[in-house]
Amino acid sequence: MNDFIPPAKPLIGEEERAAVDRVLRSGMLAQGPEVAAFEEEFSSHFGLGRPCVAVNSGTSGQHLGLLASGVGPGDEVIVPSFTFAATANSVALTGATPVFADIHPDDFCLSAEAVEAAVTDRTVGIMPVHLYGHPAEMGALCEVARRHGLQVFEDAAQAHGASLDGVPVGSFGTFGMFSLYPTKNMTSGEGGMVSVADPGVERRVRLLRNQGMDRQYHNELVGLNNRMTDIHAAIGRVQLTKVARWTAQRQENAAFYDAHLDGVTTPPVATGAVHVYHQYTVRVPEDRDGFAAALREEYAVGSGMFYPVPNHRLAPFRADVDLPETERAARECLSLPVHPSLSPNDLDRVASAVNQLAKAGA
Ligand SMILES: *Cc1c(COP(=O)(O)O)cnc(C)c1O
Repeated sequence: MNDFIPPAKPLIGEEERAAVDRVLRSGMLAQGPEVAAFEEEFSSHFGLGRPCVAVNSGTSGQHLGLLASGVGPGDEVIVPSFTFAATANSVALTGATPVFADIHPDDFCLSAEAVEAAVTDRTVGIMPVHLYGHPAEMGALCEVARRHGLQVFEDAAQAHGASLDGVPVGSFGTFGMFSLYPTKNMTSGEGGMVSVADPGVERRVRLLRNQGMDRQYHNELVGLNNRMTDIHAAIGRVQLTKVARWTAQRQENAAFYDAHLDGVTTPPVATGAVHVYHQYTVRVPEDRDGFAAALREEYAVGSGMFYPVPNHRLAPFRADVDLPETERAARECLSLPVHPSLSPNDLDRVASAVNQLAKAGA
């Protein structure tokens, strides 16, 4: 039997270990100079051209970003249902209501047309997710937002380095959130980064992550402890020097699948979009779950289902909405290993396993 090919594989090297050791030796572990340096380097690395604030998770970043943008009870924020629960959780934690809209079948991201139809007089914002590393249709979404006077909040948790017509994701809206969870395109262990357009929002995110304080014991508002540690920032700073190479490898792996997969629907890339392939997601129209099990058991190939239960069917968010493309994607989507540590032989194995299974099922 061949070795198992995992669906994701965080890459931690000697440099990361040395960076952590440097912080541990310094004796200063909490938020400090490493975090400040990481914020600056993250902003310039991803070409955001605006301030970035580091927090202890992507979810915290979304939560604080929304609070800092004035979202609260009585408000509605339009979100996709086909995403990780953090998107809707962060809205609900502010006291606002997440309102679910459908996605495009081609890029799996929020549809501007569906958003337009979901706007009410309580809507204050739209939170598109750049799902799998593909940018949402920001031109059309920002136009809907402009017409209705809404804010745009970006969930770029999976999309470090993705762009649309040369504009990096995370720089379109009031804020953009990036996750630094271990399976994301780069990691700090756990962590998140919020890129902000406005100095007022930036200041409030900085206050909110630190008990509402800028100066010790001069609390200005009610806040949390959502700080990033210098230990995590040190890991993230090293990963930043490697992520461009990893992304290029993900894109090469994706190009290989595009050229070699047969019998499953491969993911198209929109005109003007740079896809960073956090996931390489195909559609398996018949018995996706059986297909995934056979990949694992017969071919030792791991895969992922993101997301088999859409948010509008999760207990905390249960909503009676009609989201046909979301339902279909939840049934059909299968993410194949695309991470940068795959060897040419791994890529061959994945492609031929998928092709054989697709042929057998046809
Ligand atoms: C990972 C993820 C988040 C949350 O990030 P954490 O760092 O795990 O809190 C939010 N949205 C999406 C789409 C994600 O994939």
